[in-house]
Amino acid sequence: MADPRDVLIIGSGPAGHTAALYTARANLKPLVLEGEPSSTSDQPGGQLMLTTDVENYPGFVDGVQGPELMTIFKEQAARFGAEYLTVKANKVDFSSRPFSVWADDEEYRARAVIIATGARSLMLGLESERKLLGYGLSTCATCDGFFHRGEEIAVVGGGDSAIEEAIFLTRFADKVTVIHRRDQLRASKIMQDRAFANEKVAFRWNSIVDEVLGDGKVSGLRLRDVETGDTTDLPVTGVFVAIGHAPNTDVFKGQIDMDENGYITTYEGTRTNIEGVFAAGDVQDHTYRQAITAAGSGCMAAIDAERWLEAQSGD
Ligand code: NAP
Repeated sequence: MADPRDVLIIGSGPAGHTAALYTARANLKPLVLEGEPSSTSDQPGGQLMLTTDVENYPGFVDGVQGPELMTIFKEQAARFGAEYLTVKANKVDFSSRPFSVWADDEEYRARAVIIATGARSLMLGLESERKLLGYGLSTCATCDGFFHRGEEIAVVGGGDSAIEEAIFLTRFADKVTVIHRRDQLRASKIMQDRAFANEKVAFRWNSIVDEVLGDGKVSGLRLRDVETGDTTDLPVTGVFVAIGHAPNTDVFKGQIDMDENGYITTYEGTRTNIEGVFAAGDVQDHTYRQAITAAGSGCMAAIDAERWLEAQSGD
């Protein structure tokens, strides 16, 4: 069995790559298990691989494409010696040190582990949704609202996220229609009141999305009334799917503390309940969910891991 590494990083979105860059530059020779290609955000590069224009990542005056940004991150970390394997961790053992992580039956051991497996937006599951993701269909109002100035758009969902996004989007759009599958919102009363008072927010109750319409770019939604079965087309130029998020933490269940929604619990920065295991990015953040905040927390995890390893070597 190979000697344990100092640092193993699981995941390769902004948090994982930044943790790799910092630990590589601290001469800790990190190994990154970057995940495997798939059509979901649970893949090398994470959620940014499913976006097109990114205009809110500092340093890019004219914006950058999400996948290009992740390529740049990876190349920068690799330049300092971070090693990447295109495999997906499928089992971990954090019960003793060095820690063990398995992928494709191969065991990798490390003194410190940084978990940066991210989260995924829940999706409606339509083929047309998958095709138009990044082309008028988005899961992030903060990221993409700006592209819809003066337009009529829609938000799907009835929880706090959907209502918060709908209200935020009225800063740009002329009209935001909330599509909800029931006749009552799940969102908190205060958010409901704000939405009902906002003249730019309209509602389509008891409605589900049968199809996202558009050839290369969103042009509308085919909605079905769940009570009558009738379908109608709603012309919109943007759609925001806001039906919830889920962290990519199945592989860590039973090994590490998580909240009731499966997000890893962190203390004092990026420490977890297991000494030597750190968590960074959306896997432990259900509040901010931005590339820049994930990258920042990847940096924090690298510094936390480096200092923890340093303290161990002095023992
Ligand atoms: P959520 O509370 O689980 O709401 C998801 C919404 O999407 C529900 O209205 C649900 O409908 C709908 N939905 C789920 N699957 C669907 C499907 N396949 N098709 C159509 N609609 C579907 O998720 P969330 O809004 O992301 O909020 C998650 C947590 O974060 C909540 O605890 C929330 O309070 C919190 N949060 C708080 C704030 C805030 O306080 N400012 C902001 C955002 C989120 P049903 O209602 O019929 O189930």
